Amino acid sequence: MTSRVRTRFAPSPTGFLHIGGFRSAFYAWLLARHCGGDFILRIEDTDQARKVPGAVQLILEGFRWFGIDIDEGPSNEELRAVDDEIHEMPNLQGDFGPYVQSLRLARYREVAEQLIASGHAFRCDCSPEQLAEERKLQEQNKETPGYRGRCRDRNVPADKPHIVRFRMPENPQVSLEDGIRGTITWESIPLRDPILMKSDAFPTYHLAVVVDDHDMRISHAMRGEEWIPSAPLHVLLYQALGWQMPIFCHLPVVLGADGKKLSKRHGATSWSSFRDDGYLPEAVLNFIVRIGWSPGDGDDQEIFSKEELIERFSLDRVNSSSGVFDYDKLNWMNGTYLRALSLDEFTERASDWIRQGGMDPGSPEWQIIGPHIQERAKTFKEIPELLEFARRDGFEPQLSQLFSKKLDKDLATRILRASQERLASLSDFTAAGLERELEDQATALSEKAGPVFLSHRIAVLGKKATPPLCESMQALGRDEVLRRLSLSLERIAGFPG
Ligand code: GLU
Repeated sequence: MTSRVRTRFAPSPTGFLHIGGFRSAFYAWLLARHCGGDFILRIEDTDQARKVPGAVQLILEGFRWFGIDIDEGPSNEELRAVDDEIHEMPNLQGDFGPYVQSLRLARYREVAEQLIASGHAFRCDCSPEQLAEERKLQEQNKETPGYRGRCRDRNVPADKPHIVRFRMPENPQVSLEDGIRGTITWESIPLRDPILMKSDAFPTYHLAVVVDDHDMRISHAMRGEEWIPSAPLHVLLYQALGWQMPIFCHLPVVLGADGKKLSKRHGATSWSSFRDDGYLPEAVLNFIVRIGWSPGDGDDQEIFSKEELIERFSLDRVNSSSGVFDYDKLNWMNGTYLRALSLDEFTERASDWIRQGGMDPGSPEWQIIGPHIQERAKTFKEIPELLEFARRDGFEPQLSQLFSKKLDKDLATRILRASQERLASLSDFTAAGLERELEDQATALSEKAGPVFLSHRIAVLGKKATPPLCESMQALGRDEVLRRLSLSLERIAGFPG
């Protein structure tokens, strides 16, 4: 192991990358940045049968969205060799490539031969039928299933079709110092001569990960805790090769609120759905990092800029038990991030959503209503609905939300008729002017302010849940407010009861 901190993220392109997978990437990236080291991307595509086109593309786009910079990784050419659907080309490079496992086959073969030569591995030519037969017998005899060692000492020649297996020592004592969990010791290892090289000339993950982490001078190998059962084999391989191990850091899984492993059942789990649902990448990153990492005992700070995360991140504050993905907390956090933006920045970043809500982000009406939308929205996705009141076409008041025992058709009609006249000549048609005006209207009618405001809210904005009334009326402008008042009066007249 070098003294320089070099971490890697090593996804397999076998499906879309779960948000929990991104957390491993964030931790690896934060550790590298905190220590002034290197963050490396490696594509682990040894399982060619399960390769999903587009998976690497989505990962690279995710890195760009989150603003995670990579120091070393597959060159554009190497990426093209993985998948011709990749168009995200971040122009990565480094001294330890290729950074794609399918392009490193000769190196794995070389190491496998080295292990065969030193007696730590052997060639095996057992046919699938023989292995199936063996498994059947083991099941019948209620034995632990696994390879029984037929080829261990047969010296299968290299020119015969074969696979390569690791020669599992008898009762090995294996332990490792996990960077997060401390010492992990295995009393027994239920692996029987596991495969290192497959018949398709590809290595298994076990050989490839050991060779690559060594060759790429990785200092800390962060990965999900599902790899703990495989870790003893990796330790044994390092020992057999006489190589120094990286510090393994096995990260706990992310759970849903019900304590089950986070899955689509709980809500969005791919980074792109958070983007499509109108979250800010910096908020999602902060939130995900904070699941399972805390700044210190008794320190309940939740909001961290990226710079602050880099400064404060440390492995010993990563939790060894599972963290929960709490969508409500994410919404709260995202809303907090949104409110912290300047109005200009909010407008710029939300511009597509504002347009989707039918408003021009450069318009004076947005200038009036924007700050109130920013105050209320927890995600950009809520903006179109919050702007619904401003749509000129198809306006219909929800009269069912208007009437109550205290506010009947007659009273609503009286309020709105009087308003029609007064608003037509109101000189100060601003939020503050309208606020005063509605209160004056109430006094003039000897009514409380409540029914006057509610009548206007429904008659002019259409429904109860809207941005603030007077600002919205100002944003709509006098003509549109008057048009809606007449339309609503007509609808009220025709309303049954
Ligand atoms: N390629 C592995 C996976 O995607 C990662 C394992 C590792 O990081 O060592 O699950």
